[in-house]
Amino acid sequence: MELLDRHSLDALLVTNGTNRRYLTGFTAEDHAPDESSGVVLVTASSMTLFTSPTNEPWARAEVNDGVEVVPATRPWTTGVAAECLARGYRKIGFEDGSTNVRDHAGLTRELSPALELVPVGDGVDRLRAIKRPAELAAIESALRMTDLAFERASARLTVAMTERDLAEIVRAELRDAGSDGEAFPTIVASGPNAARPHHVPADRAIGEGEPVIIDMGARANGYCGDLTRTVWLGQPGAQLVTMYRLVADAHAAAVSVVRAGVAARAVDRAARDVFDAAGMGAHVIHSVGHGLGLRVHESPSIGQASLDTLQPGNVITIEPGLYVSGWGGVRIEDVVLVRDDGATNLTGAARHAP
Ligand code: ZN
Ligand code: ZN
Repeated sequence: MELLDRHSLDALLVTNGTNRRYLTGFTAEDHAPDESSGVVLVTASSMTLFTSPTNEPWARAEVNDGVEVVPATRPWTTGVAAECLARGYRKIGFEDGSTNVRDHAGLTRELSPALELVPVGDGVDRLRAIKRPAELAAIESALRMTDLAFERASARLTVAMTERDLAEIVRAELRDAGSDGEAFPTIVASGPNAARPHHVPADRAIGEGEPVIIDMGARANGYCGDLTRTVWLGQPGAQLVTMYRLVADAHAAAVSVVRAGVAARAVDRAARDVFDAAGMGAHVIHSVGHGLGLRVHESPSIGQASLDTLQPGNVITIEPGLYVSGWGGVRIEDVVLVRDDGATNLTGAARHAP
């Protein structure tokens, strides 16, 4: 792993649960920040997964070839530190974004002054940004389920149905389409509620002509789908038509600049330029997109402050939106694959045309 060379490390200690799965294949999740299902010690030639004795048989059945599974001590820091000392390490990296203070203190107590602990930031997360063929296949599978569930759920939308009812229908359709639960809690936001990008579905009855934002995703082999469509019942109101066309234009503008080598913030800029030109810049309240994979939000970041450069194999969302307090909002989200010469849209769900 290049990360070891970059920081001159003997080993890297992986505590981030998503990275643990990515590197070892062990699918257990962490149920809370202080309940780890295991940590991984990575060297240039080995990978060791420390997990609870309870999880050991499960882990052995799942891990990739070459991953050694050993029982973790309680706390795990004691056993990991002993192993590092026994192997004669001098310098090990740790994930400072996901190693909690208690564990860091435990490691420091056990290891210093023999060993130096070096923070590696989000170095492992960044490895996940370029998808391997099997990962891409899993994402495409999740997206097919998402498309199908959206088509079926949106066809069932009727007047006076509540946001909560529709979210429940989306969940059921995702399950029927073969999804392993939801990639994230489904958002259904109607009328004025659509002005809040992360609205939690409520008991509000959906009326005719108003925007209904549906943001949903299936999960396949741990990989997430992500889709947003803005739909309506009956005839769309005039403001909805205007805003919808503007968001669709911004979406097309953003997708058109996607290709390897382009600064991620240029993609965000392309969407903002469309909104600014229409005098709607003040109604843009989130980045145009994000990476997608084992997590629904991951590297690269596609926002105006992003320092990332798009690379072939990145899978990103393009989801411009406009939000007007008291009225509502419009968002359109597709997932695209970054190629050397452009972008491949991986989303197949139909859009409502105003
Ligand atoms: Zn998204
Ligand atoms: Zn989404």
